[in-house]
Amino acid sequence: MFFHVILTGECNSQCRYCFAEAMEDVDEDFSGFDVDYSLPKKISYKIDLLKRLCRQDPECVLTFYGGEPLLCTEEIKQIIDRMNAKHFMIQTNGLLLNRLEPEYVNRFHTILVSIDGDEVLTDYYRGKGTFRKVIDNLKLIKRNGFGGELIARMTVMEQTDIYKQVTWLLNNSEFSFSSVHWQLNAGFWKNDFARRDFKRWSEENYNSGIRELVKFWVDQMAKNGVVLRLYPFLGIAQSLLSAEKTSLLRCGGGWINYAIQTDGHIVPCPTMWGMKDYYLGHISNADPSKLKKVFVGEPCTKCDVFHICGGRCLYANVTKRWAAEDYTLVCNTVRNLIDAIAKELPRIRRLMENGRISLKDFEFMKYNGCEIIP
Ligand code: SF4
Ligand code: SF4
Repeated sequence: MFFHVILTGECNSQCRYCFAEAMEDVDEDFSGFDVDYSLPKKISYKIDLLKRLCRQDPECVLTFYGGEPLLCTEEIKQIIDRMNAKHFMIQTNGLLLNRLEPEYVNRFHTILVSIDGDEVLTDYYRGKGTFRKVIDNLKLIKRNGFGGELIARMTVMEQTDIYKQVTWLLNNSEFSFSSVHWQLNAGFWKNDFARRDFKRWSEENYNSGIRELVKFWVDQMAKNGVVLRLYPFLGIAQSLLSAEKTSLLRCGGGWINYAIQTDGHIVPCPTMWGMKDYYLGHISNADPSKLKKVFVGEPCTKCDVFHICGGRCLYANVTKRWAAEDYTLVCNTVRNLIDAIAKELPRIRRLMENGRISLKDFEFMKYNGCEIIP
């Protein structure tokens, strides 16, 4: 079982797609949902309760999450010191990574760090100076011995040229990443679609960029014998190659991956924090193996690519922040992604038959915070 431990709702950044959108959507209507807007700013439960929960599951993986979890370094240290989780991971904006001592940073199995691509783009989305500080911190943790997986976690929207930015992250003179994941900023806010250019961008830029990137990915397999860890591609290709079908969310949200709020309530995923209708238990008495499971509904359950997509996002599916016809554009990006990989399968299979790559190269730790379907 995977748990996101939300250490705080506060953040030290003011990113465009999060802080700025929240400001614009301030009058948004969340009618139909009972939302608790007064959750504690930091964890208000005793760490022993978290220990009690985790102890019941030998496979318990804890991912520190926020807001920005590194605003709570003391809590991180206490949890790592006192608990016996199988793995600890963190999703961070990276700005404060220098504040956590190496003996703790080096305990992380995986660090997902928010970075959107090169300096110009990252600073455009996340604020001037962000890129430099994050890269300096990443160099520091590497120097200090961090040997786990470091995943560049991009948020992508209209200013992103996906091909250019992903290939830049993989290969640049500043700091090259070996793992990259991205998620579309789409379907999270109520009123943003009308003021955005998502339709044109997704149809004229993103979808073709994805096709180009898939080709590049398979070219690298052929040229260098490596399967680059581009998480959306890995997840889909692995399923297609093994003929695996899924009707479960690939992020794991609500069925194997849960989030623990600062007040100890358990929700399907961090984005659903405060949504009382989705409180599935409390860490004081929950049994991880008996936690209620929540699944996506229509339109996903009636969709012809549901068995590969898995539903993309429970939050988007239940809140329906975007109108159905607008969300169709998001689904079209999913279809395009699946189709682009499916078209390359014969080439991938040939490379496997020739021994250039193997099915093992597509393996990854599922539910590690990469949602697979962007
Ligand atoms: S493509 Fe869209 S409708 Fe189909 S399963 Fe995925 S998110 Fe749901
Ligand atoms: S994809 Fe959606 S349901 Fe899954 S973790 Fe992200 S916000 Fe939650």
